[in-house]
Amino acid sequence: MKIINNVKKMQACADQARFEYKKIAFVPTMGYLHEGHLSLIRIARELCDLLVVSIFVNPSQFAPHEDFDAYPRNFQRDFEMTEKEGVDIVFSPEIDEIYPSKFQTYVSLEKIPIHLCGISRPIFFRGVATVVTKLFNIVKPHTAVFGKKDYQQLLVIRRMVSDLHMDIDIIGGETIREHDGLAMSSRNTYLTKTQRESALSLNKAMKSAQTAVESGVIDASRIISETKAFISSHPGTQIDYVAICDPETLEDIQVINRPALMALAVKVGSTRLIDNMILNMK
Ligand code: AMP
Repeated sequence: MKIINNVKKMQACADQARFEYKKIAFVPTMGYLHEGHLSLIRIARELCDLLVVSIFVNPSQFAPHEDFDAYPRNFQRDFEMTEKEGVDIVFSPEIDEIYPSKFQTYVSLEKIPIHLCGISRPIFFRGVATVVTKLFNIVKPHTAVFGKKDYQQLLVIRRMVSDLHMDIDIIGGETIREHDGLAMSSRNTYLTKTQRESALSLNKAMKSAQTAVESGVIDASRIISETKAFISSHPGTQIDYVAICDPETLEDIQVINRPALMALAVKVGSTRLIDNMILNMK
């Protein structure tokens, strides 16, 4: 496995692979890898001849008060995990390599980011769209794999790729959970034992919502208020949003008479967790 931290070198490897008609698949990450990341890597491995994983904690998607400095990092462990999965190249650039001092070009979308996480994190999706565009131009993949755990992010990437005619297939991988239902996240490492107990309320609440919908409840506002009450009854939780919305536009849905996205963002202590599920009628 090669570790590359230079843009030009990465581009040269991608050019060489394309010259040899090799298929390049790409999994962008911020590192501190877990089984969720590995599941995407395994999907990508099957689709290509050259598998590239990036590890880059992207400063442009963090607001000044957020956890950029504290974000967990363990490059050695990440390299060992990627090597075991048969990754060919880990691209892990320094910040200056991606954002040199004269940098001033951003990619932003008009509609998808005005919902859900974009409300409390107004610069987040601009940072994501910008860094993913840059990484696509550096890694030159045919295919890239993203997790449905970050549902809104996946929508942003799909929209951007379509709008900007990027010739890349975007694949969505299912959310991988701990045995007790907590969605895996690098940020779970911040949670104390009690906070982790409280964090389980997100998945439990979504499951109850699904059961309610199956039993004929169609009033989204009723499910939302029951969900909020349930999560708030757990110590240390502070709800950012609970939404039931259209899975494509993310606009709120009042009546659940078709598949609807339930999306949650909750702070547990100071850790912000997100999760989502598609609610299906019986
Ligand atoms: P991150 O390192 O958090 O930026 O995530 C890198 C990629 O892994 C993104 O496409 C995420 O959606 C995906 N991902 C994160 N957590 C999970 C999970 N629990 N299951 C599946 N994919 C995930």
